[in-house]
Amino acid sequence: MASQFSSWGRYPQLEQRGIYLNWADEGLPENGESLLPFGMGRSYGDSCLNTDGLVLATSHMNRFLSFDETNGILKCEAGVTLAEIIDLALPRGWFPPVTPGTKYVTLGGAIANDVHGKNHHKDGTFGHHVSRFELLQSSGERIICSEQDNAELFYATIGGLGLTGLITWAEIRLKPVESAFMDVETIRFDNLQAFKTLSDESSSSHLYTVAWVDCQATGEKMGRGLFMRANHATDPANSKDKFEPASAKKLNVPFVFPQGVLNTFTIKNFNRLYYGKQLQHFSKSRDHYDKYFYPLDAITNWNRIYGPRGFFQYQFLVPHEDYAAIEEALGIIAKSGAGSFLAVLKEFGDIPSVGMLSFPRPGVCLALDFPNQGESTLALLQQLDDLVVAAKGAVYPAKDARMAPEAFAAYFPRAGEFSKYVDPRFSSNFWRRVQGNSQ
Ligand SMILES: Cc1cc2nc3c(=O)[nH]c(=O)nc-3n(C[C@H](O)[C@H](O)[C@H](O)COP(=O)(O)OP(=O)(O)OC[C@H]3O[C@@H](n4cnc5c(N)ncnc54)[C@H](O)[C@@H]3O)c2cc1C
Repeated sequence: MASQFSSWGRYPQLEQRGIYLNWADEGLPENGESLLPFGMGRSYGDSCLNTDGLVLATSHMNRFLSFDETNGILKCEAGVTLAEIIDLALPRGWFPPVTPGTKYVTLGGAIANDVHGKNHHKDGTFGHHVSRFELLQSSGERIICSEQDNAELFYATIGGLGLTGLITWAEIRLKPVESAFMDVETIRFDNLQAFKTLSDESSSSHLYTVAWVDCQATGEKMGRGLFMRANHATDPANSKDKFEPASAKKLNVPFVFPQGVLNTFTIKNFNRLYYGKQLQHFSKSRDHYDKYFYPLDAITNWNRIYGPRGFFQYQFLVPHEDYAAIEEALGIIAKSGAGSFLAVLKEFGDIPSVGMLSFPRPGVCLALDFPNQGESTLALLQQLDDLVVAAKGAVYPAKDARMAPEAFAAYFPRAGEFSKYVDPRFSSNFWRRVQGNSQ
C-alpha cells in the first residue's frame, strides 16, 4: 500500500494520513494529534512519516515572495521546489547553492535534512546558504530564526528533521552562474587509493566531484569506478541558448515491478556495463545541468523498479583517514550478494555543518541502494551499522528506516542538546524509533 504520503524507498509501507492547511490564516490543528511537515517525500525511509499522527502537506505553500536579482537573495514559501527555483532563477544567472541528486525537493525539506551536494568540499551544506526563515510552532507562535535571532532554534531546525516546527518561508543565497551548462570530466579509476588521489587533486580545481563505484567488483578490481568532476561552463557557445531550460520530456515507470526482477544477476551486469561504458581512461563533455545533476529525475517513479517490497538506501560516512572501513564495507556488500545499482562515493570537505543534527562532516561518504529482501537485507544493514559505529562515522537519517537508538546516539552526539528544541507536538516514525519509543 503506498499512500499519497509515502517515502521514496516505499519502505516502510504504512497508511499515512495528511492534511493541507491554509497555514497563512489558520494555526496548526488543535485536535492533539502529533504533527510532522511533509515536502515531496523524497526522503527514502521514515523520517518524513508520522503514522501515529498527521503530516502537514506543504506542496501548496509554493509562492515566491521576493527576489533580489542583483545579489541572488531569494525568499519563498517552504513548499517551493528546487525545480521551481531553477526555472525562476537560472534565466537571471542564479542557481541553487547546493543541490541533492533530485530537484524535486522542497525548500523546507532541503533545510530540514540540511542536504548536501557534489560541491560539499567547497560550499558546505544547504544550511550554509540559508539566511533566515519563519518557524510556526504548535503553540501558534511564529518565530523568525537566523544567525542573529533565535540562533539556537535556527541551528536546531537546520537538519532538524521537521521536529522543531513548520518552516513557512525561508530566505536563501543563490550561486551566480553564467550558463545552464557544465564542463564535465570523467575518469576511470582502478581502486580506492586512485579515487582518493583524484579527489585530492580535483578539490581545488573543480566545484563538483563525485564517483560511481562498482560495488560488485572483488579482489584486485575492488573499489574501481568512474570519477566525475565538473564546473559551471563560463564560455557558453552561443548566448541565445546559454540558459536553455531543462527538457520537459520524461520517461515513466508506470507500475511497480514484480518481485524478483532485480536480482544479483541484473545488478552485477548493470555494474559491469556501467563501468565499461567509458572506454577511454579520460573523457570530457559539456552537459546540460539537468543531465549532470539530475539523471534519475528523467525517469518518473524510478523507485517502482524495486518491486512491491520497496528498497533501502544506505548512506554513511567515515573519517577521511579510514578508507579501510569503506573497503571493509564493500567487501561485506560484495560477499552478501545484495548488490546496488548505484554506489556513490564522495569525499566531503572540512567545512563544519551548522545544524545540531546535520549528517555531513569531514570524511568519505558512500551511498548504496538495496532491494528489500526482508531479514537478509536488515541483517546486512545491521552489519554495516556495526562497522560505521566502530569507525566513528554516521548514517544519514534522510535515507534511513531502521537504525537502532544506540546507533543514532553514536552518530549524533548532539542529539540530547537538539531534543530541547523539539516542538512537544511534533514527531515522526524515525524520531520515535531512535528515541526507543516505537511499538
Ligand atoms: C534521487 C534522489 C537523490 C537524492 N540525493 C541526495 C543528495 O545528493 N544529498 C542529500 O542530502 N539528499 C539527497 N536525497 C534526499 C533528499 O534530498 C532529502 O530527503 C530531502 O530532504 C527531501 O526533500 P522533500 O521536500 O521531499 O522532503 P520530505 O522527504 O517530504 O521531508 C524531509 C524532512 O523535511 C521535513 N520538512 C519538510 N518540509 C518542511 C517544512 N516546511 N518545515 C519543516 N520541516 C520540513 C520533514 O518533516 C522531514 O523530516 C536524494 C533523494 C532522492 C530521491
